[in-house]
Amino acid sequence: STFDKHRSVFEALGLDKTNNKGVFDGEWKGSGEIVPSYNPVNNEIMAEVITGTPDDLNTAFEKVAEAQKIWRELPAPKRGHVMLTMRNALVENLQPLGKLVSLEMGKILPEGIGEVQEYIDILEYALGLSRTMQGAIIPSERPGHAMLETWNPLGTIGIISAFNFPVAVYGWNCAIALITGNGTIWKPAPTTSLVSIAVTRIIAKALKDHDMPTSLCALVTGGTDVGQSMVQDDRAHLLSFTGSTEVGRQVGKVVQGRFGKSLLELGGNNAIIVTDDCDLDLAARAILFAAVGTAGQRCTTTRRLIVQESVYDTLVERLKKAYKQVKVGDPLDEGVLCGPLHTKQAVEAYKKALEQVKAEGGEIITGGRVIDDGPLKHGNFVEPTMTRVRPDMKIVQHEAFVPILHTMTYKTLDEAIAINNNVKQGLSSSIFTSNPSTIFKWIGPSGSDCGIINVNIPTNGAEIGGAFGGEKETGGGRESGSDSWKQYCRRGTCTINYSGALPLAQGINFG
Ligand code: NAD
Repeated sequence: STFDKHRSVFEALGLDKTNNKGVFDGEWKGSGEIVPSYNPVNNEIMAEVITGTPDDLNTAFEKVAEAQKIWRELPAPKRGHVMLTMRNALVENLQPLGKLVSLEMGKILPEGIGEVQEYIDILEYALGLSRTMQGAIIPSERPGHAMLETWNPLGTIGIISAFNFPVAVYGWNCAIALITGNGTIWKPAPTTSLVSIAVTRIIAKALKDHDMPTSLCALVTGGTDVGQSMVQDDRAHLLSFTGSTEVGRQVGKVVQGRFGKSLLELGGNNAIIVTDDCDLDLAARAILFAAVGTAGQRCTTTRRLIVQESVYDTLVERLKKAYKQVKVGDPLDEGVLCGPLHTKQAVEAYKKALEQVKAEGGEIITGGRVIDDGPLKHGNFVEPTMTRVRPDMKIVQHEAFVPILHTMTYKTLDEAIAINNNVKQGLSSSIFTSNPSTIFKWIGPSGSDCGIINVNIPTNGAEIGGAFGGEKETGGGRESGSDSWKQYCRRGTCTINYSGALPLAQGINFG
């Protein structure tokens, strides 16, 4: 079985075949459903997790709040030392944890490891932040007054994450939440529970090494019931949600209804524009990685390719050749670039999307087949696919979370930018060009309307140092670097009168 074959990975991370407890609030427990974890390579059950319930969540909220009272009093640079221990613990576990991501989510090993590396990177970033997070000192209009801003923790950050980045999404939120003095409760995707248990174990040990309460970083695995309870609970001072636009729309409304704060990281429909003055070789390599990598299951995957008419045929010929050479297979095998889709439902979504392409008069130019024969037949494997469509087709408006790249042509730069912007999502976008005026137009007010605006690099593969997120139906949230940390804080505007008199603002004379 998969468990026996990879026993050393599971054992290194403290996981068993059965009875893995899926709730942590300082103690490991679980009173919910027993949920199997499948390997998408063959749909075999690898191990089982005893998940949590809304009751477990309730206790976890209490435990996190107690722990946070201690944590918030620890000076930020001291918190930074704890983050350093977490970082070192993840470095030690980089290989087995990266492998577990491949086994449970299905992405290729370098990407599984890369995702753990992102968590390591953001912990280093948080250590830096611990000595550089600063508030403003503002000139007061009144004599003998000082005005300044304070950034204090919100309390508890609820984190609901998607299946496709089972480590990094939590990592980004956890690192910034902790360094700003908050506690966290994590509800991962139900299909990646094993990874979340392994991560929580590693983090808890680091907290323990510093004599900090381990319940500061709680975990409640489970499904929609646990997710909905967390969203409704006003003890989740910030609700950071990563997932589909459909669910995110409901989450945003519920959190707004209780005047909580939310951070929404939702679906994308990312495009690359290829101009006739760019390096086509570079563009082709970038497109292949962005459209086929992670089997098309990144929020930043390139889904639309907008090519200047005169270079379309040359580029597409090159891409077709490259697509044919992509090895599809077991994500742990050397040389494989495209692993399976995460679930059987995703295979159905792939089929449906291709049927719609045909129904709307589009054409499949390479790929297009579910791999249901040969050694891969028991897994969720599909051929990476390119289509030829028109930008006004309905299929191009939606995010199918599978490796399908829709290609189309344009004549003028204005037209290309309009096509890029003419979808409801606004996550990531790229242009390939060597023309400086094209570059500055693209990043300016009449350019891309996305949160991520790239030049001569693909839509995916963001660095942690920048703010990550998107506009419109992508939800508007920003995570990770730049000043994203401020969202995990309450801002205080403080005016201190040291004059002994009481001059009023706006020159008001009262009585
Ligand atoms: P999903 O929306 O189905 O599930 C996301 C999470 O929400 C899961 O943990 C799920 O259990 C939970 N959930 C489901 N219904 C809920 C409800 N009513 N209330 C509260 N929680 C609920 O998404 P998915 O299939 O796991 O992930 C794929 C999607 O995530 C894609 O659309 C992708 O673009 C998006 N995504 C976005 C980003 C980003 O940063 N913008 C990153 C990764 C993934």
